[in-house]
Amino acid sequence: MQPYQPALDLLQGRVILITGATDGIGRAAALACARHGATVVLHGRNVKKLEQIYDEIRDAGGPEPAITPLDLAQSEEAQYEEIGDAIGKTFGRLDGLLHNAAELGTLTPLELFDLTTWARTLQVNLNAPLLLTRACLPWLKQSTDASVVFTSADVGRRSRAYWGAYAVSMFAIEGLMQTWAAELVDTTPIRVNSLNPGPVRTAMRRRAFPGEHPQRVRPPQDIMAMYLYLLGPDSRGVTGQAFDAQ
Ligand code: NDP
Repeated sequence: MQPYQPALDLLQGRVILITGATDGIGRAAALACARHGATVVLHGRNVKKLEQIYDEIRDAGGPEPAITPLDLAQSEEAQYEEIGDAIGKTFGRLDGLLHNAAELGTLTPLELFDLTTWARTLQVNLNAPLLLTRACLPWLKQSTDASVVFTSADVGRRSRAYWGAYAVSMFAIEGLMQTWAAELVDTTPIRVNSLNPGPVRTAMRRRAFPGEHPQRVRPPQDIMAMYLYLLGPDSRGVTGQAFDAQ
């Protein structure tokens, strides 16, 4: 099968919120979406890194992005509602939501897993995407072609020893995606899917596989085609499905 070839103006006029846009895959997705015409709402917890990517998009001639800082590990429901309200006030709708931010936690046997790390990992990887989707729902409903993408992982489909809270959170993300898709399919045009990036050369991958030679895995910019497909109009009508980026 030929790889998906996104048109240069694929995302023209779309407003897309990307979590964890300050590094790794989220950063590459933000740059790719802006390059294809989207106005990107950049989420991260580090304002300096958010400003750097904002400048990079603007300097490359992309549509002016917006910035929304929030530490997902420390956040309350009201803060997600503030993000939704700000998007509504500024843009009046949201066409794409890429849940990308996640934490690895620790690779530890379940027998010894620290409960504070367990709770934090589930907070960032599972509760945050639930609350953010809920807060953005009124504005996703204002779009004629909204797409929500949850990021999964290999261990969210087949677990491995010691991947603890991270693996469990990724399984839960697949369930969350399927539940949202089933609840929205009959009453809205919003599509909801999950995407497993596969092994990608990022800080998280280095933490999980410290002995691996970085050149053995692809850089984030090489796996953007499936992200663009799911966030753009070519995936209209596709919902409730689990995709692989590689
Ligand atoms: P990185 O660690 O490189 O980047 C993660 C991003 O999420 C960063 O922008 C980071 O912010 C942000 N983030 C993490 N914790 C928080 C928090 N508490 N509050 C706000 N933002 C936060 O990870 P990857 O790019 O590798 O991973 C992206 C997604 O892909 C994740 O969902 C991951 O599970 C998934 N994935 C990655 C694979 C890989 O091989 N890389 C394989 C399978 C799945 P900051 O810049 O401040 O650290």
